[in-house]
Amino acid sequence: MILTSDPGAAYRAHQGEIDQAIKTVLESGWYVLGENVTAFEQEFANWCGVDFGVGVASGTDAISLALRALDIVPGDEVITVSHTAVPTVAAVEAIGAVPVLADVDADTYTLDPDQLSGLLSARTKAILPVHLYGHPCDMQTISAFANGHGLAVVEDCAQAHGATIDGQKVGGFSDVACFSLFPTKNLGGIGDGGIVVTNDSLIADKLRRLRQYGWDRPQHSIQTGLCSRLDELQAAILRVKLRYLDDDIKRRQEIADIYNQAFSQYQLELPVVRSGCTHSYHLYVVQSSRREALRGFLEQREIISGIHYPQPVHTQPAYAGRLATGTMAITDKISPLILSLPLYPQMSAGDIESVVSAVSEFFG
Ligand SMILES: *Cc1c(COP(=O)(O)O)cnc(C)c1O
Repeated sequence: MILTSDPGAAYRAHQGEIDQAIKTVLESGWYVLGENVTAFEQEFANWCGVDFGVGVASGTDAISLALRALDIVPGDEVITVSHTAVPTVAAVEAIGAVPVLADVDADTYTLDPDQLSGLLSARTKAILPVHLYGHPCDMQTISAFANGHGLAVVEDCAQAHGATIDGQKVGGFSDVACFSLFPTKNLGGIGDGGIVVTNDSLIADKLRRLRQYGWDRPQHSIQTGLCSRLDELQAAILRVKLRYLDDDIKRRQEIADIYNQAFSQYQLELPVVRSGCTHSYHLYVVQSSRREALRGFLEQREIISGIHYPQPVHTQPAYAGRLATGTMAITDKISPLILSLPLYPQMSAGDIESVVSAVSEFFG
C-alpha cells in the first residue's frame, strides 16, 4: 500500500534518534515549555531566516494568535482564500474576525491578487495568503497592495516549509507567519503543534504571552490569552526532524521532477512553478477530468491518492451563504478535478515507479 503521505515512514527513517529524544524528555521530568521548545523555536526561526519563533499548540492556533498579536479584533475583516484547508478560515473566526474569501490563481492555486481591490472594505485589516501545496503566493503583489492600504499580512505557511521566492524562504514575507507541525506536514511531530515566526521582537513577546493566559511572568496576566503551548516532547522530536528537513524537501522536489517528466504527455494538468519560486511539494496535485476513474484505478493497485480539498470552504455547510466572497470561477472549476498523488520523502524508488506505471497504464 502506498499512502498519499506517510508520517510513520518519517519516524522509522530516524527511529533511533527520535526514540532517544523522547526518552530524554521523559527522564527530564520537564514536559511543558522547557529547553527543547526554546531551542526548537530558535532553530526553526534560523532555518526560515527569521529572527523569532514562538511554539504553539497547532497551526490553527498559530493563525489565530498571529492575528491577535497584530491587534486584529472582533469584526475586523481578513481576506483569505476559499480553496484552502478549513483551519485557515476557522482560525480567523475563532478570534471573532470576519473571513472574506478570494478566488485563487489558475496556475498556482494561490490567492489571486487581482481580486484584492474588489474585496477591500473599511473594515479590512489583514490579508492571510496561503502558500498552498508548497507553492509560494505572489507575495510581491500582495505585500504592495497591503502596504498601499495599511493592511497587515500574515502568511499561512502550514504547507510550505522551505518553499522560496527569489531564494528566500516563505515565512519572511509578512509581519507574522504561521506554520503547522501536524504529522503529515513537511515538518511534522507526532501530534498537534504549530509555530509562529516574526522579525518583530515586540510581536514575539506578545505571542509568548498570548499562548499562555497573557502571562508576562508566571501567574501574572497583563492581558487575556489562551492555553496554546507546544509540548517539550513534540519540540524534541521536531528538533531531530528539522536536521533532515532540507534533505526531505530536496527529495520531495526530485520525486516531483520524476512525476513531471513521466506524466507530461498525458491528459493531466501538472503543477506549475512561478518563475523565481521553488515549490516544496507538501502535496503533488494534478487536475484530471477523469479524476474519479483515475482514483479508483490507483486504489485497485493499492495506491491511495487524496483530494485537497473536496469542497471549497465557501460551499461547506458551516460557511455557505454566510461569508463575503469574490467570484469563485477557478475555485469552483478545480475542486472536482484536483487529485493529490502520493509524495513523501521516504517513498522508495519502487513506490515511485509503481505510481508512475499505474498512472501510465491508466492513460496508456
Ligand atoms: C494544516 C493546515 C492548517 C492547520 O494546521 P493544524 O496544525 O492542523 O491546526 C492551516 N492551514 C493550512 C493551509 C493547512 O494545511
